[in-house]
Amino acid sequence: MTQPGPRGPASEHAAALPDRLADVQARIAAAATDHGRAPADVRLIAVSKGQPVAAIEAAWTAGQRDFGENYVQEWQAKAAALAHLPDLRWHFLGHLQRNKGKLVLGRVAVLHSVDDMVGIDALARAAHEAHVAQDVCLQINLAEETSKRGCTADDAELFCDVLLRSPGLRLRGLMTLPPPRDAAEFARPWFARLRTLRDRLARTLAGRPGVPPPHDWWLSMGMSGDFEVAIAEGATHVRVGTAIFGPRA
Ligand SMILES: *Cc1c(COP(=O)(O)O)cnc(C)c1O
Repeated sequence: MTQPGPRGPASEHAAALPDRLADVQARIAAAATDHGRAPADVRLIAVSKGQPVAAIEAAWTAGQRDFGENYVQEWQAKAAALAHLPDLRWHFLGHLQRNKGKLVLGRVAVLHSVDDMVGIDALARAAHEAHVAQDVCLQINLAEETSKRGCTADDAELFCDVLLRSPGLRLRGLMTLPPPRDAAEFARPWFARLRTLRDRLARTLAGRPGVPPPHDWWLSMGMSGDFEVAIAEGATHVRVGTAIFGPRA
């Protein structure tokens, strides 16, 4: 491996990061305002998978506090290296193998990727044993892609029901990853569908203990290529990686 020199890729990267972060923040604020929403109602999660610890630290220095990771080992190493940064909140976005749940529970702010029944069961037991109440989003595979995880829209109510009966897991909302397309507009129908599903669940589950209030169900949707469209369709959490950090290693 060659060491990047002072003017090599690594330093260019570090110099541009605060600008890119500010640009994403400005675009989030504009998209929210354009759709009659308060910018503060959209939380930016900087997706740092595949990025070095130094990049996360640079984003933190620029004011970013929420970071998303997908892989347990990578996240653990980064969390240990950055334990000195106050207020840093981790969001776990990846599939969690059954035996890994206990490593993440209570150590991340939100687990966005609750995606299968067996997983919920194992996670609920681990949360109970660890005496934690973990905020979670249910991942929905709207297009029913075999390459993706998540429950179908039809099964969402059943999954929510199981989550609501799991004291250690606090259902906060829904998450989705639409089929990848070049144009952001292709994602809009999927984002709209997640919002409609959220509205339906909020109605049918209203009043059950542990159900978020109707106005406070989260929608975790939108990435670098389409977060403005997601905000237009109601996203409360956008997960943005490359637009902030540049390409992943
Ligand atoms: C990697 C990833 C993102 C960020 O993707 P970008 O296109 O780099 O913004 C968002 N959400 C999930 C679940 C991811 O795995």
